[in-house]
Amino acid sequence: MVAMNLAASVMLGLSALTMCVAHPTAATDITIFHRSAEKTATFPGCSDKQVAVLKKAIDVAVEYQAESWEYFRTRGLSPVHTDDLERFTTWFGKFSLQNYRIVRDRFKEMSAYPLASWTYKCTNEPDDCGGRIAQFFNIAGSRRDSKGEILICKGFWFPNSGSDARNGQTIIHEASHFNSVRGEGTNANLPETYGKGECLKLAEKHPEQAIHNADNYGFFAQYPDVPHLLSG
Ligand SMILES: [Zn+2]
Repeated sequence: MVAMNLAASVMLGLSALTMCVAHPTAATDITIFHRSAEKTATFPGCSDKQVAVLKKAIDVAVEYQAESWEYFRTRGLSPVHTDDLERFTTWFGKFSLQNYRIVRDRFKEMSAYPLASWTYKCTNEPDDCGGRIAQFFNIAGSRRDSKGEILICKGFWFPNSGSDARNGQTIIHEASHFNSVRGEGTNANLPETYGKGECLKLAEKHPEQAIHNADNYGFFAQYPDVPHLLSG
């Protein structure tokens, strides 16, 4: 049991304003969690430095979840312009209405997840993670009121892996594992495929797996601009 680091709790709403007066360093909290007034993210086991990185990552992930859903919302349930789906086909393979709707539904559901009120728990124990950089723990309940918990593993902090964009991608990845009203999250019964190159290949060769692979969801969210991605 890891004791809660009180400094790691982000207080919001009126209490945040009070907190800001007492602790000027908390001022950025209001900006970071402006979409989630009255929510409280907690960071048990995390150092102040880790909390600062995680707050930025959550902020990025919140932007990603909104932007990703906007992509599908604006294209509707049955997109007619399939040449306008390069981003979808890049990460989820050849277009089919069935696959499109599976991915769309998941992003729609994910867009409601209160990422800024989940628990982000830090661990330095290799045994807790089995080599992963993060791990999702499902806490059952409806998508709006249940609190997810993401275990942040040692690998998350390795040098060169820690851009805000990359960390935001990790949170979207983990969030896609969330098991809520759909009954199961991504990769419920499949091995996971990780990394940009492998995920691009998975989409090309096995769309039926890509549409259930968490990292593909993360990369879709991270890279709205496909031509830029491919040339870079
Ligand atoms: Zn995963």
